[in-house]
Amino acid sequence: MNQTPHSNRVHIGIYGNRNAGKSSLFNAILGQDVAVVSPVEGTTTDPVFKAMELIPFGPVVWIDTAGLDDEGILGSLRIEKTKQMLGRTDFALYVLDGSSPDLHAYEEMKQVFKRFNIPHLLVVNKRDLMSADDVEKIQLAYQECVLVSVSDLNDIHHLNDVLQKRLKSLEEEEPLVGDLLPYGSTVVLVVPIDSEAPKGRIILPQVQIIRDCLDHGIKCHVVRDTELAEALEELPKVDLVITDSQAFKEVAKIVPPAIPLTGFSILFSRQKGDFNKLLSGIEALKRLKADAKILISENCTHNHSHEDIGRVKIPNMIRKNIGTTVNIEFAMGHDFPADLSQYDLVIHCGACMVTRKTMLHRIDRADESEVPMTNYGLTLAYFSGILERSIEILKGRDA
Ligand code: SF4
Repeated sequence: MNQTPHSNRVHIGIYGNRNAGKSSLFNAILGQDVAVVSPVEGTTTDPVFKAMELIPFGPVVWIDTAGLDDEGILGSLRIEKTKQMLGRTDFALYVLDGSSPDLHAYEEMKQVFKRFNIPHLLVVNKRDLMSADDVEKIQLAYQECVLVSVSDLNDIHHLNDVLQKRLKSLEEEEPLVGDLLPYGSTVVLVVPIDSEAPKGRIILPQVQIIRDCLDHGIKCHVVRDTELAEALEELPKVDLVITDSQAFKEVAKIVPPAIPLTGFSILFSRQKGDFNKLLSGIEALKRLKADAKILISENCTHNHSHEDIGRVKIPNMIRKNIGTTVNIEFAMGHDFPADLSQYDLVIHCGACMVTRKTMLHRIDRADESEVPMTNYGLTLAYFSGILERSIEILKGRDA
């Protein structure tokens, strides 16, 4: 269970004012003391993450956040961190202290959820401290709310049931290849094993594509670029070749034109983001001048192979093809500037380690700043002269 990557888990954020009982609720749902709980306001300082199997729904990550009404300079920093969690939240529980409900704060947060397109459930906590009159009033005003007392197991089970029904209605991620090819098709994956390849394993995007093939009954052969020609000769029929984007140029020379060819990162641009938007970013890339300012953004800070693409290969291609004076900045991990308006283009990694929601949120931010955005795979395909060929398989799809 713990092997399911975070990117494939639904992220459930718990929001609310200090001392509304967020951490107690978090612990009650998890059935263990993960978050430190105390009656002192503001006990949760940094967001706490916990991966678990929510049976029967499936793997989720819970995010317990600090109070939204925190005070002082440190308090403001905590609120800022809590707000950053919104970009990673697929579904939110808003916890309201039923014994002294701050409805104004809830109404404000409702607008924030709306802006971030996050579905939410209102949980009215401390039911045991409310009068029958107050219970009736709140149920009348917020008909879909769930009233709980964290010490009552029946309440927690009821909340779980309601939550799971809501989660089931969330949009599912698209397959990576499963809807592009019929059952029984044959795919060849090209994974160069060079000095940048991690020792003893293959990287997550490759693992996820293999799993997607298996899920959809697609036969999947994995080869290095050096054995690709031989594999293509041996296999009676190949329906698609998917390559590491760094090897586009070499692989395109080996794969006969009749066999469709694409890249891992291009497939992720559809599943994790908005393919058409990221593709239109290439039009902006074509128009860039030598004084352009570009932001290169990656979701993780630890992937050396990707660091090399983002920090070395793509900048070199830009300088060679657009100009040595292009100004390139980098944003790694969860850092993603709120204001992107100073940039002419954002080039993002394949986003395999994050949820679709996180990536869509970043695309929305670029949209709000009217800055085009594309991704590594599309950029490498364009500079390698095989953009049209690499996206052919996605054309005509509702991408
Ligand atoms: S940098 Fe991006 S594409 Fe690379 S492993 Fe991390 S999330 Fe995936």
